[in-house]
Amino acid sequence: MKPFLLLAELVPAQGDDVRPIECFLRDYAGRKSEIPSGFRLAGVALPQNPRGIPMLDPADIFSIIAAKGPSGRGLWDDLDVVPHVTGKEQNAEALRSALMGFRAMGLTTVLAITGDKPASGKRVFELDSIGLLELVSELNFDAFQRAPVSPPAKRTVPSPEHPPAPGGFSRIGEMLAGPRPGSASFASRFSSVPQFFALAAVSPFKYTEASLLQQYFKAAKKLQAGAQAFLLQMGWDSRKSEELFRYFRQARLDAPVLGNVYYLSNANPAARLMNEGRMPGCFVSDELLAAVRREKAEAHLERAACQVAMYRDLGADGVDLGGLPDFDALVRIAVRAGEIGPGWRQRRIILDYPPPPPASGPGLFYLYGPETEGGSAPRPPFRPSPRPRTFRQRRFDFLHRNFLTKGKRLCPAVAGTARAFGLEKGEGSLYRWFHGAEAAAKAVLFACEDCGDCFLPENFGYCTLGECAKGLPNPPCGDATPEGRCGNDETRVCVAEPIFQAAAAAGKLDGLAETALPPRIAALEHTSGVLNYVFDRDHARGFPLIQIAELLHASIPRTAAAVQEVIKEGLIDAPPGAVRASGSAALGYLVSLIRRQAKQGAAYIDVNVDALSEDDPEFRKEILRFFVRLIRGHSLGVPVCIDSGSTEMLEAGLAAWYEGGREGGRPSAAPLVNSVKTYTMERLLPLRARFPFKFIGLLVDEKTAGLDGAYGVEELQALARRIVRAATGSHGFAPGDIFLDSTVFPLSIDVPMEAAKPGYTFRAFETIRRLKADPEFRGVHFSLGVTNAVRDLPGRRTGVTRAYLARAMELGLDAAIVNVFHGYGRRPPAPDLLAFVDAFARQDGSPEAVENALQAMMDFCRANRKK
Ligand code: SF4
Repeated sequence: MKPFLLLAELVPAQGDDVRPIECFLRDYAGRKSEIPSGFRLAGVALPQNPRGIPMLDPADIFSIIAAKGPSGRGLWDDLDVVPHVTGKEQNAEALRSALMGFRAMGLTTVLAITGDKPASGKRVFELDSIGLLELVSELNFDAFQRAPVSPPAKRTVPSPEHPPAPGGFSRIGEMLAGPRPGSASFASRFSSVPQFFALAAVSPFKYTEASLLQQYFKAAKKLQAGAQAFLLQMGWDSRKSEELFRYFRQARLDAPVLGNVYYLSNANPAARLMNEGRMPGCFVSDELLAAVRREKAEAHLERAACQVAMYRDLGADGVDLGGLPDFDALVRIAVRAGEIGPGWRQRRIILDYPPPPPASGPGLFYLYGPETEGGSAPRPPFRPSPRPRTFRQRRFDFLHRNFLTKGKRLCPAVAGTARAFGLEKGEGSLYRWFHGAEAAAKAVLFACEDCGDCFLPENFGYCTLGECAKGLPNPPCGDATPEGRCGNDETRVCVAEPIFQAAAAAGKLDGLAETALPPRIAALEHTSGVLNYVFDRDHARGFPLIQIAELLHASIPRTAAAVQEVIKEGLIDAPPGAVRASGSAALGYLVSLIRRQAKQGAAYIDVNVDALSEDDPEFRKEILRFFVRLIRGHSLGVPVCIDSGSTEMLEAGLAAWYEGGREGGRPSAAPLVNSVKTYTMERLLPLRARFPFKFIGLLVDEKTAGLDGAYGVEELQALARRIVRAATGSHGFAPGDIFLDSTVFPLSIDVPMEAAKPGYTFRAFETIRRLKADPEFRGVHFSLGVTNAVRDLPGRRTGVTRAYLARAMELGLDAAIVNVFHGYGRRPPAPDLLAFVDAFARQDGSPEAVENALQAMMDFCRANRKK
């Protein structure tokens, strides 16, 4: 059985005196056997400037203590060290380097939280807890991407049977995963890649419907952003503690949970500060404060032990223990918690100190009534009763709907007028006048702080910069009072409350529950938010390309290696939800590959496993089904692009996509099939009746193409016509369901094999140009597998791809199979690479054009050949 984990939360005395922490660690080293069986001190958590008051940074505390003692980790012994990471004083770049620093020190278990508002310094909060978790996920993914695809590293995961080697330590993530079934060791090339294990916070101790449900909504968003376990905020109300576990089970928030136990005593002022609201988010009622003041130390210890017993009994994996005076207190709490066991229920009287019910209004909000305890309870998402929209909401909706809904009503006129007056450039006196007027009006109406990247529409007309004391992208933090007021400024209601009410009134709670907003674009600060929106510069800007993400392709060595490991680990049948529990690093990599591509704006996640298991087609289908399920479970709603040269595989992939509907019971978005050809369309297109899909129509035929293996422009046009007519005429496809691909040949072989014959690139581009101009193809998309164009070039492949796409997009290309991490279509191509591509795009077969292309290739190779 897994031991119940204890995490000791320690802070230096007076902000910079680490001796109490040293003392705790020395006691641990000498007396660790006193920790009762069934419990394990897993690590030490180091808060970052709690209450916004400066103190030693967790990295400094770690280094100071690591320098003392026998091994490289000094007094830390076999304990994991968990720094709190917050965005309160650091911007996104500073946080990135701080995390890199932690990783370099071996501190990879982090608690990613919003953090307390600085007591006197300027707040930052460019990233809130969700943004931080995304950053951690990104760093984890980058580490995988950078790691060499080398043979498996020999590494044994510490477990009770395999204790850490002297000087080594166990990470909390490994302890929570427990020993792997069937194997005590991870001999995996992926498990040796350093990965952060991110804990996130959640508070069930909120007593308004809006505050509580926003907490739970945000917990789900944190899970999506990469949280691997949750740590509860502190609170003294066992019904609320139970509620969280129940909600997590019902909402299938599948992650380990650690409770939070604060040892309230008279030895420090914490109880009084919490009672006075000076530790936002930590509520101690008058009754609890009075009880703590009149009790003796034994009773304080009994309450803490009872809370530990409660969390253990409710199914938590451990607890974070704060307010500990010393190691001895930890031991005594654990011993007593073991004795209390399930008997905590008879001691609720010392645990339950909810706030007093409000004088008016609906009373304290609990998600489940006591009468339903143990019985059936409402299924999340919880649906509050409908509310009328307020005047403010109606006014905002009217203005936004009529003037600022891109492409609709008066928005094109707004854009046209702004363009006519030269406002698009974002400079000049007229622009400054417009911007000043906009900022003044929005400051009055919305407490706007002129960030230039306006999220008013997503937040139902509430500015989370001006109307939140921390200016969070995704409120709430955990600081709201029981009445739903801001814990940092009780003169105002927490902004998450009216946002929730407005979403409920608009019937958009599901959207609120699922949508995590990105950080604001820092470069837009103090520019016109309206013009940034109208001219596609803010977060709402679309992608100029429909990106079909290409990295889940078994011909890519890293992807293939991960799949091989997953097969070896026997996880190819694993349902998408089993990833966390499996503890498989290779599976974790594949999931992060799916998620990061989706986050990067992929419209489809391409999967191709044709290179695997070529001698066992049935098993290959099984692998494809596994991937399709994995994408369905982890792609944040982005559909799959099923990519195969085999019609049977395509059929199997389609069936897998529709098997059981999407996770969460919602209908699946239509997948893309890559590809349908004239000679496979009669078999594939009728499948639309059973499995609605879109497809890439590849312009090839069974007949032998020209001498050079490619078709002429007229032949390509004819192939396109056959596919589009069959799809729209006989099988009910809309033009927008079709992506025509005129095929890409590498520039490196784009030399004529027949006199006067245009080059491949010329033919591909010219086909797009002509089809785009043909009314019969109105609404049809044009796509290319563009990576093929740069195959075998000696360098600058990303730049050449960017230039190739830029030229093709000028002709009408609107989709491409690409590496979505390169931002194609958003950044301008280098002029010299545009000229290089042009040499091939203009190769119409004339001797001068051929010579020009050959010369361009020679120059390019000379300049870019690796020395
Ligand atoms: S307004 Fe709400 S989310 Fe913002 S700081 Fe206050 S309690 Fe936190």
